[in-house]
Amino acid sequence: MKDRIANFSAGPAVLPEEVLREAQKELFNYKGLGLSVMEMSHRSKAYQEIIDDAMNRAKRIMNLGDNYDVLFLGGGASLQFLMVPMNLCPEGKVGNYINTGTWSNTAIKEIKKIGKQCHVAATSEDTNFSFIPKEFKLSENPAYLHYTTNNTISGTEFKYIPEVGDLPLIADMSSNFLSKPMDYAKHALIYAGAQKNIGPAGVTMVVIRKDMQEKFNTGLPTMLSYKTHIDKGSMFNTPPCFPIYMVGLVLKWIEDMGGLAAVEKHNIEKAGLIYNVIDNSEFYRSPVNTEDRSLMNIVFRLPSEDLEKKFVAEAAENGMSNLKGHRSVGGCRASTYNALPMTACQQLAEFMVEFEKNNK
Ligand code: PMP
Repeated sequence: MKDRIANFSAGPAVLPEEVLREAQKELFNYKGLGLSVMEMSHRSKAYQEIIDDAMNRAKRIMNLGDNYDVLFLGGGASLQFLMVPMNLCPEGKVGNYINTGTWSNTAIKEIKKIGKQCHVAATSEDTNFSFIPKEFKLSENPAYLHYTTNNTISGTEFKYIPEVGDLPLIADMSSNFLSKPMDYAKHALIYAGAQKNIGPAGVTMVVIRKDMQEKFNTGLPTMLSYKTHIDKGSMFNTPPCFPIYMVGLVLKWIEDMGGLAAVEKHNIEKAGLIYNVIDNSEFYRSPVNTEDRSLMNIVFRLPSEDLEKKFVAEAAENGMSNLKGHRSVGGCRASTYNALPMTACQQLAEFMVEFEKNNK
């Protein structure tokens, strides 16, 4: 589409064109009701249908049964760094974490801030998070194991689900949520900020297995307690109504595409175009372990920082935006989330080859 850029933003990120068009169509007058979703009471029948539909689609896509609740909360994935230990790490038990990057690290800092015990079960910090640990060592009395399925900044992704037996497994899936089929049911709790793969910023999806309710700490502030939101169907207070509606449209788009198997196939092809250029070049370099690299956030370096600057600027002039790496690590990063069209990756791959020729 001529009037849309190739948007490689790490988040908030590109949304499916079909979803934007549908939202545009329904924006002014939702299904003939004479008002927009933004103007509707969250207690109305029409809105209840919207949120129920989104919850049901989410469970269907992940192949989860009625033993899971789906919540839509505010506060970003960052609030979950706090809510997880607050609700699920009791006195005398230890929150276990695999540290694979900035966001895992932030989760670890948060549990420590509330004075709970924390154990780092594995880490790749020594190598600047260039790989995914394949083994981990749990503490005595673990409350749960928390891991980050995809590392948005360092560009690595878990290709396996940690095996923890009966111990609750908790995953921050913010940056690769619903990008591929996986055994979602191996998790006791999953959370993901919407703004990368499933919608606009402002809502976080939390998926909780029902048996976790027996483990919830009690006496928590109302808004920080999962129980509050489960009991009220994410409607204890006014939820982020419009973002939830958008998530529903994205979930419908995923189902219409053929579900997660089709989504993954598309993602492998898209990322492959760019990794292929990197692998066949002595100009571009990937700083991460080949087998651990992410399908969602492709990080790469050029021979110098000056060339990286030039690359990002020239790409932008050619309609490819947001290719600068995260400010904490530098380099370049192309985020290739579900909604990014194949044509954007083709365009970038061709541009990379051309840029290398002109700047070698
Ligand atoms: N976890 C991961 C993996 C992320 O990529 C991010 C944001 N980039 C966060 C957590 C924090 O999310 P939020 O901004 O929604 O709080």
